[in-house]
Amino acid sequence: KFNQKVEISGNDEISNLGKAFNLMTTKLEQVDKQRREFVANVSHELRTPLSSIKILAESLIHQEKVEEKIYKEFLKDIDSEVDRLNRIIDSLLSLVDLEKENLNLDYQITYVNYLIEKVINSLKPLADKKNIKIYYIEREKIQIMLDQFKIQQSLINVIGNAIKYTPENGEIFVELYSNSDEIIIKVRDTGIGIPEEDIPFIFDRFYRVDKARARKTGGTGLGLSITQQIIALHQGRIEVESRINEGTTFYIFLPKKAAVNI
Ligand code: ADP
Repeated sequence: KFNQKVEISGNDEISNLGKAFNLMTTKLEQVDKQRREFVANVSHELRTPLSSIKILAESLIHQEKVEEKIYKEFLKDIDSEVDRLNRIIDSLLSLVDLEKENLNLDYQITYVNYLIEKVINSLKPLADKKNIKIYYIEREKIQIMLDQFKIQQSLINVIGNAIKYTPENGEIFVELYSNSDEIIIKVRDTGIGIPEEDIPFIFDRFYRVDKARARKTGGTGLGLSITQQIIALHQGRIEVESRINEGTTFYIFLPKKAAVNI
């Protein structure tokens, strides 16, 4: 419990100490509240697929004669719920990892061009399934210091989202350019867009604009918050612009000198 505060009157040293103490208490209260909310959210997110698995398994157990086709279908549903649980746990582990106090990024000099190309190639089968075309516009060849694995993970999240939230036959444009001190990776899709009122929250953990749709697309609501943390660790930032039914554009800014003095 952090709700003890001291009564303060006056302006002497003891009072100032009291004020500092109260400020610290308020901070601790906030951290404690966030932690409790996080645990509640995690529990809820884990419980949803678990409940589905339970219902599916029970109905198989209680049915007398189940046609093999139905049996297989139920098992397939159980299997995909298990995949979902695994995805949530993987994302949670990534988050915990990113929040380590002494986290060291594995900086390596990297051609950002190749990293983007690699990510696009790995996501191509997913895009092909929906006949979505991904165009890659390289304005220049850019080499900077970055943690390849982590930036790759961020790009997979953002470009993967562009595919997930774009209907069939859509288009995605990935562009790489720079200004004097930053590189910019722009990912524009022609998808469903994000309602204006949801935009401030999309980087929050577990936040999904449309829970039902996100469930269908396998979303956990953790991708963008992981991405934002990774980019912040590189002293960069991520911004978004969106219009409902027209599309969404994410901009990832990374400092050219990200790791020069590390
Ligand atoms: P999820 O795993 O649900 O995709 P994210 O953290 O990656 O979670 O994204 C949070 C939410 O932001 C998504 O559920 C979706 O509603 C919205 N979103 C993210 N990217 C896009 C996009 N390119 N187009 C439309 N909505 C998006």
